Amino acid sequence: MRRGEEIVMQKILDGLGIGKTSRGAAAGSRWLECGGGVLESVSPVDGKVLGRVVQASPEDCDRVIARAAEAFREWRMVPAPKRGEVVRRIGNAFRERKQDLGALVSLEMGKIRAEGEGEVQELIDICDFAVGQSRMLYGFTMHSERPGHRMYEQYHPLGTVGVITAFNFPVAVWAWNAMIALVCGDAVVWKPSSKVPLCAVAAMNIAGRVIAESGYPDGVLNVVIGGGKDVGEKMASDVRVPLVSATGSVPMGRRVAELVAARLGKPLLELGGNNAVIVTPGADLDLALRAVLFGAVGTSGQRCTTIRRLIVHHSVFDRLKDLLVSAYRQVRIGNPLDAATLMGPLVDREAVEAMQKALGEIRAQGGRVLYGGEVLTGGLYDAGTYVSPCICEVENHYPVVQRETFAPILYMIRYEDFDQALELHNAVPQGLTSAVFTNDLRESEKFLSHAGSDCGIANVNVSTSGAEIGGAFGGEKESGGGRESGSDAWKAYMRRQTSTINWSGDMPLAQGIKFGAS
Ligand code: NAD
Repeated sequence: MRRGEEIVMQKILDGLGIGKTSRGAAAGSRWLECGGGVLESVSPVDGKVLGRVVQASPEDCDRVIARAAEAFREWRMVPAPKRGEVVRRIGNAFRERKQDLGALVSLEMGKIRAEGEGEVQELIDICDFAVGQSRMLYGFTMHSERPGHRMYEQYHPLGTVGVITAFNFPVAVWAWNAMIALVCGDAVVWKPSSKVPLCAVAAMNIAGRVIAESGYPDGVLNVVIGGGKDVGEKMASDVRVPLVSATGSVPMGRRVAELVAARLGKPLLELGGNNAVIVTPGADLDLALRAVLFGAVGTSGQRCTTIRRLIVHHSVFDRLKDLLVSAYRQVRIGNPLDAATLMGPLVDREAVEAMQKALGEIRAQGGRVLYGGEVLTGGLYDAGTYVSPCICEVENHYPVVQRETFAPILYMIRYEDFDQALELHNAVPQGLTSAVFTNDLRESEKFLSHAGSDCGIANVNVSTSGAEIGGAFGGEKESGGGRESGSDAWKAYMRRQTSTINWSGDMPLAQGIKFGAS
C-alpha cells in the first residue's frame, strides 16, 4: 500500500473507532475485557495487518449471554414501534458512516468498493424494513367452534437470538437478523467470522452507541469475536439462546444444527449454494451475458448466491462461451478500492489454495479449463490472494461440481432438451438460488412450477446473485431451509401463541365432547 493510501486507511479506521488492538466482546457500546487469544486481521488487499483483536473466550461468551438475557427482560416490554424507533436511529447512524464502513468491508474482506458500500446500503435498507415491520407483527384471528369464545394468535418476543455470520457479508447478514430480532423484542448476540473481526467492531461501535443513547440496556445488542469451535459452539449449545441463526458452510451448519437440536432449540440455517442458471435456445444472450458476468465474477465468486453452474443449450453453447471468455478477459482485477476494479482478491491465501485444488480435481475428473484460474503475481498481486476468474467445461456429475468451491470458477454444462436441463439443475445436494434465461413462457413457467427448480429462490431473466431484502431469503436441501430478511421471515424470531377466550357463562368442549353430568 502506498503512503497516501495508508493515511486514508488509517483515517477510515480512526473514524470507525478502531484502534491497534480491540476487545473481542461488547454489550452495546461497552467493550469488555476478554481472555481469549489475539487475532490478527490481515487485509487480503496487500497482506498487511489492519488491527488486532483480543478474542472472547467461552467464559466471556457466557457472561455476554447472561447480560443479553437480563437486557431481554426489559427490552421485551418496550412497545414494538418504540423498538422500531431505535432501529430507525441505528439505520441513520449507518447512513452517516456508509462510505467508511463500506471501505473497511473492502479492505478486510476484499470485495470492490461499490459492493462494500452496497453491503452497507443493504444494512440500512433492512433497518428501514424492520422499522415498518415493527408496526406489522400481525397474528390471525379465528372463529371459534364454541359459542361465546374468541380465538387468536399472537407473537411474543422469543429471547436471545444468536447470530453466527460468514466472512463474505461482514455486516449485512448480521443486520438481516439483528434488526428484525430487535423489533421483535429479542436481544442479540453476534458471533462474526474471525476473518473479518474489525467490521464487527466498527458495526458495534455504530449501533451500540445508538442503544446507549436511547437509554435502553446495553445488553440488547452484543458481539463476541472468537473461534467457531469455542465461542460458536458455546452459543449453539446454550439453552439461554432459543434461536441460533447460522450463516456459513454446510459442515458448519451440520455441527450447529446438531448442537441446537440436542437441546431442542431452534436453528435457522443459511448455508452454501451450488447455484445454476439455465440458458435456453431462445434466451436473450446479451442479457444472460451481463447477468452471468456479475453473478459469477462479482465478489470474486464469494457469494452464497454466486453462479456456479451454467447449463446451456447446445445450440447456443459455443456462442455464449466465446462471449463470456471475451468478457472475462476484460475484467479489471486489482485493488478493490480503485474505482476501475471489477474483481478484488479472494479473502485469504487458503481460499486461493482451495481454488487451485478444485482446478486440479476438475482436470482429473475430465473437465477442461476454458479460461483463467491462474494465481496472479507481481506488485500488489504478491499478496498471494489474487486470481483470474475461471470458466470450465464439465459434466454435472463430477464430484467437484457437486460441491461448492467458494471461488470464481464457473462450470459450463451442455444440455439437449429442457427437461434434461431441469434434471441437471436439481441434481446437486444444495438448493439455494437458481435462474432461467428464456423468452419462452412455457419454459419459464415450468422452471417456476413444482416440477421445476427445487431451490429457495428461482428467477427468470435475473441473476441468482444480488437478492433484494424484501423477499424471504434462504434455500432448500443442504442450503439449510432457513428464511431470513423480508416477507414474513420475522416470524422465526418470535414465539407464537394461540389463545382462546371464553366470554360465555358456559363451558362447552371442542369437538362436541360431553364430559360429566352436564
Ligand atoms: P464458515 O462455515 O467457515 O464460517 C461461518 C461462520 O461459522 C463463522 O463465523 C465461523 O467462525 C462459524 N463457525 C465455524 N465452525 C463453527 C462451529 N463448529 N460452531 C459454530 N460456529 C462455527 O463459512 P465462511 O467461509 O465464513 O463463509 C462461506 C460460506 O458461507 C459459503 O459456504 C457460503 O455459501 C455460505 N454463505 C451462505 C449464505 C446464505 O445466506 N445461505 C450467506 C453467506 C455465506
